[in-house]
Amino acid sequence: MRVLLVEDNERLAEFVAAGLRNAGFVVDTFTTLADSDAAFEAAPYHAVILDLGLPDGDGLHLLKSFRTRGSNCPVLVLTARDGITDRVTGLNAGADDYLLKPFAMEELVARLRAILRRPGAALSVLLSLGNLSFDTIGREVRVGGELVAMPRREVEMLEQLLRRAGKVVPKRSLEEGLYGFDDEVSSNTVEVLVSRLRKRLQQTSAKVTVHTLRGIGYMLVDGAP
Ligand code: CA
Repeated sequence: MRVLLVEDNERLAEFVAAGLRNAGFVVDTFTTLADSDAAFEAAPYHAVILDLGLPDGDGLHLLKSFRTRGSNCPVLVLTARDGITDRVTGLNAGADDYLLKPFAMEELVARLRAILRRPGAALSVLLSLGNLSFDTIGREVRVGGELVAMPRREVEMLEQLLRRAGKVVPKRSLEEGLYGFDDEVSSNTVEVLVSRLRKRLQQTSAKVTVHTLRGIGYMLVDGAP
């Protein structure tokens, strides 16, 4: 899951980004409304964590602009501002949840996962295909009920393919969902990852197949290769 973190306090942003990465998220951090808005247009984020006091304005403007453009991307607002007024204003502007600073990283991760589970975000908890299942909250992959250990990026890729099982997932969209702007990605990064995932699925006797559609993308289907 790729998260846009909008926070101008450098130390806090680093702390939050590190905590989110530890929890398995891909994170891009921006410090201004303008940069965050441009990033939101450029990349497919699964969620936004938004500070309200930013150097070029109020974070709520950004939230309103996302909603005006029809995005239902879940947004968690972080703020030091106390008081019921700010909360009501934020929720009216389309925030999915609120967290007051200071907060514990565990709570932020729990709240983020909770908003990713809501129906508006179109994310269900358990995804399955063939004899394979994936718990999107616990991040566990199982084949025939048996737990399979998998590196984080492979899990992320499998999740993206599972969410669109039976449909073509363009290579570019996989790449954008798996890597942040700061990650180094070479032209064959996705191919290498797909071939590792394919091998691992075969080793575990998963009854699913990752098809390559040359020059287009990948498709996960039911049935052993
Ligand atoms: Ca701030």
